[in-house]
Parts: sequence; C-alpha cells; structure tokens
Amino acid sequence: MNDIPSIIQELIKFRNERDWEQFHNSKDLALALSIEAAELNELFLWKKAEDVNIDKLKQELADVFAYAFLLAEKYNLDVKEIVLQKITQNAANYPIDKAKGNATKYDEL
Ligand SMILES: [Mg+2]
Repeated sequence: MNDIPSIIQELIKFRNERDWEQFHNSKDLALALSIEAAELNELFLWKKAEDVNIDKLKQELADVFAYAFLLAEKYNLDVKEIVLQKITQNAANYPIDKAKGNATKYDEL
C-alpha cells in the first residue's frame, strides 16, 4: 500500500464502489484538483506558516494527491515516470551553477 499504483487502485476501488466514475471526467478532476489546492492554500491564509494545522494539512494534501493521481490514471500516465521526467527537465532548466540559492525563473537565469 506504499506505492503509487496501489494508492491509485484504492482510489479507483473507492470511486467504483460508489458509481462515481461517471462524474470523474478529466475536466472535473482538474477542477477538483485546483479547488483542493485552494483549500490547502486557505490553511495558510492570514497565518504564519508554522501555525498551520497539521491534521488539516494532511487532509488537504491527501485530497490534492488523490485528484492528481486520478487525473494521471485517466490518461494512463505513470506518476513516477512523469515526475522523474519533470525533475530531469527542471535540472536542465536550472543548472546548479546558475540556480543554486537563486529563485529566478529559468528563462531569466
Ligand atoms: Mg479538501
């Protein structure tokens, strides 16, 4: 249960037991992901970062992951593969010698 494909299978089992696949089109999964990210942001609104409620943070992070995983599954994307590819791309965009300690976007480095 610790690997991503197993988590996705649990999400699909939960969804299918409730006949919710009919609602899980790509557009609504993307909207739900964005809305859950906003709920995550709300936990930090008007607070110091260290004052965030960790239990609520866990809940909202789980929601974000769940919708992101379901969206990836909709397109048969391998989550590990696409994240590793993105890290490789980011490494090319942000070479250590230029980006270390520097928050400038890659196209302005
Ligand atoms: Mg939520």
